[in-house]
Amino acid sequence: MRIIILGPQGSGKGTQAELLKDSMHLTHINVGECLREEVAAGTPLGRRLKDAIDRGELVSNEHINKLVGRLIREAGSRFIIDGFPRTKDQAQFLDLATSIDKVIVLKLPDKAAVERIGGRRECPNGHDFHVTYNPPRKEGICDECGLPLARRKDDNSMTIMKRLALYHRETEPILSHYAGKIIEIDSSQPIMKVHQDIMRALRQR
Ligand code: AMP
Repeated sequence: MRIIILGPQGSGKGTQAELLKDSMHLTHINVGECLREEVAAGTPLGRRLKDAIDRGELVSNEHINKLVGRLIREAGSRFIIDGFPRTKDQAQFLDLATSIDKVIVLKLPDKAAVERIGGRRECPNGHDFHVTYNPPRKEGICDECGLPLARRKDDNSMTIMKRLALYHRETEPILSHYAGKIIEIDSSQPIMKVHQDIMRALRQR
């Protein structure tokens, strides 16, 4: 099963992809997280990408396609990819690299997305929490690795609006590319209810 999960920033793509990874034994390809790891590691690629990521802009197709091509080859035939494709060109690249079975689209109004992103916290290993909707057991500390939680550098009010606008302008139009494969889910519901709705929809098809 090869799945794409799409949705605006803050709609819970990463959280739902992690739950599906466990429920369906999939590899979670988290493209944004892989890019942040490159930046944190200070690799030559990471240094080139840092500015675009910090500004909330898309990194170039040349870099992203190379990375995603490798991650897909490593993942084999069971994966859920989160954060890709975000443009028509990337969708065309993915067509050449693999065949996709289902596309989960998380629906969330912009107002709710902005509110959610404001409460999002992440540890240095990429484990996600939310101060209200998914709080850690101990405030400010990751449940999984005990490291401190912080806001992502690109989760500030300037870049949030830019990233949401990019989603509507560049990513939403590619949904028509996946006609017949789309599962739309109301992502304003609690985390486990969204997960159950996704699982039910995947079983029905
Ligand atoms: P995310 O964690 O998915 O919100 O991604 C964080 C940042 O990584 C984005 O704001 C972009 O700068 C970059 N990025 C992630 N996925 C892509 C993509 N498919 N194409 C270009 N840039 C991306």
